[in-house]
Amino acid sequence: MSIGGGAANPILTVGSVALDSVRTPSGEVSRMVGGAATFFSVAASFFTDVRLVAVVGEDFDAERASVFEGRRIDLEGLQRVPGETFRWRGEYGSNLNTRETIYTHLNVFEAFEPRIPHGFRSSPIVFLANIHPALQLEVLEQVRDPAFVALDTMNYWIERTPAELKAVLARVDAVVINDEEARQLSGEGNLVGAARAIRALGPSHVVIKRGEHGVLAARREEFFAAPALPLADVRDPTGAGDTFAGGLVGYLASVQSRTHDAWARAVIAGSTMASFAVEDFGLGRLLRLAAADIRDRFREFKRLTHFDAL
Ligand code: AMP
Repeated sequence: MSIGGGAANPILTVGSVALDSVRTPSGEVSRMVGGAATFFSVAASFFTDVRLVAVVGEDFDAERASVFEGRRIDLEGLQRVPGETFRWRGEYGSNLNTRETIYTHLNVFEAFEPRIPHGFRSSPIVFLANIHPALQLEVLEQVRDPAFVALDTMNYWIERTPAELKAVLARVDAVVINDEEARQLSGEGNLVGAARAIRALGPSHVVIKRGEHGVLAARREEFFAAPALPLADVRDPTGAGDTFAGGLVGYLASVQSRTHDAWARAVIAGSTMASFAVEDFGLGRLLRLAAADIRDRFREFKRLTHFDAL
């Protein structure tokens, strides 16, 4: 596994940079740096160079911006405008697999027009993090012939903007989505059926995130499944999905191979990164992570899932 290799393809990502307030059974934190594109970028930057396009408000001070410092994250596309940064609050009960969104304040995202800097337009890999699908489409209009485009979305957009979401799904190679959202988007209760129905909308790769139950990943007709690492101490699941996507797409960008084996390793790289994200609030654990930790945990996944055939 190449972490931090030099020849990796850069990834362009567009999505939310947020101030998150979160309550879980382990505690409560207010206005910490989060956002789908933030978790994605920090996770993917362990594997390759990331070009982040997003918007923040005046409240996103230097201390908050320091989460991006010293990483392979290019901030040329991070706009700072008058107003408040996107804010989101989520609360979890004792079952950490379900959460309630208390509020979503789009703030500076309401007037956001993604402007992709010239140097970012020929990015070979694109990750459209969870954001208004019309904005995801605008990004695709500005990039030149990317080799691989992946997208994340959530119930908020499936309910409010289904037509725009279908238009962008028709133009991507991979979608990363959680189980409830996969059922909602496809109208299929069964996840295998849901993956098939979503593939019929455009993406050849469909990754369904199932929280503590792991992931079900369809690559064309073929399925690959991975458990979540059994962890005794889960403090905050926020951002696990975006961190998963960062590991998955980051790994794919760092290797040239597009075989089933490379895809399977990417799914495990995503699961590995997500297993770290949930161990502390917000970005906490990811910011303290070293490449050696990632390699060790990747191997733990192999031990956990390996067995010989009969
Ligand atoms: P996850 O736990 O992977 O679903 O992602 C949680 C992150 O998504 C938080 O950091 C939020 O700031 C961000 N988020 C929540 N709702 C939205 C939304 N409607 N659009 C964009 N980002 C969002």
